[in-house]
Amino acid sequence: MPELPEVETVRRALKKEVLNKKILSASIYWSNIIAYPEVKEFEKKIKNQVILDINRYGKWLMFELNDYYLLSHLRMEGKYFIKNKKDPKEKHQHVIFHFDDDVDLRYNDTRKFGKMYLIKKEEVYNVKPLKDLGLEPWDIKLTPKYLKEKFHHKPIKTELLDQSIIVGIGNIYADEILFKSKINPLKQAATLTKKDCQNIIDNTRDILSKAIENGGTTIKSYTSSEGVHGRFQSELLVHTKKQCPICKNSISKITVGGRGTYYCKKCQK
Ligand SMILES: [Zn+2]
Repeated sequence: MPELPEVETVRRALKKEVLNKKILSASIYWSNIIAYPEVKEFEKKIKNQVILDINRYGKWLMFELNDYYLLSHLRMEGKYFIKNKKDPKEKHQHVIFHFDDDVDLRYNDTRKFGKMYLIKKEEVYNVKPLKDLGLEPWDIKLTPKYLKEKFHHKPIKTELLDQSIIVGIGNIYADEILFKSKINPLKQAATLTKKDCQNIIDNTRDILSKAIENGGTTIKSYTSSEGVHGRFQSELLVHTKKQCPICKNSISKITVGGRGTYYCKKCQK
C-alpha cells in the first residue's frame, strides 16, 4: 500500500504533467471507484473543469478544479498513467479523464479498491472523506499537548495508525517512528510523556521528509509511460529487519491491532 511519501511523490509527478489541462469528459469503466456522487452526476460535473493544482491531505490526492476537488485514494494498487489518446485502453484502466489535447489521464487499479470523490470546493473539509481526518504531520497545530488530548488507552502503534489523530502514517513508517523514538509499540499511548510525544512528532516529520526526498530521487528516472505510482522503498531500520542496527539484538515481530509490527525489545522498552 502506498504510504504518505509515495502519495506525495505521485502528487509531484502528476503536477508536472496535468496542471492547467481541461477535462473534456471522463469515462468510468468500474463504477465502484466513484464513491460520490453517482457516476452519471460525476461525469456531468467534471466536464470542462480545469486542473488548477494538485494538493494532498494525508493519503488523499486533491485535484483542485474550478468548482470542485477531485479526491483520489490509491488504496492498495492505484496508479496514474498519462497516455496518448490513440493508445488502446488496457484491462485495469478503470477511469479515464480525457483532456482537450492529445493525451488523457488513466487511473489503473488491479485490485479496484481505490476511491474517488468529487466535492464542491467550499464543502471539502466539512464532508466525507476529509471531515474526520486528523492533522497533517507538518501542521503547526500538531503538538505534544494535541497528542496528549487525542491519545486513548490503546497501544501507541495503533494510535499512530489512527487517521483521526495524525493523517498519513501507515504500518511501515509507524514502526520506524517508534524505533527512532525508542518507544515500545505496545505502550499505552495515554501514558506517554510530553517528551515522548515531542519525539514522536519530530521523528514523524524527519522520517516522512526523508522518504519524500528519496521519492524525489526516484522520480528523476520516472517517465509518464511507466505510470505514476511512487513505489519505492526508503531506507528502513526496523520494519521487516532481522537485526537491530543499534544494539545488534534480534528484531521481534508481533501483531498489534492486527498489523505486523517490528521492534527491538532492548532499544524500545
Ligand atoms: Zn536494539
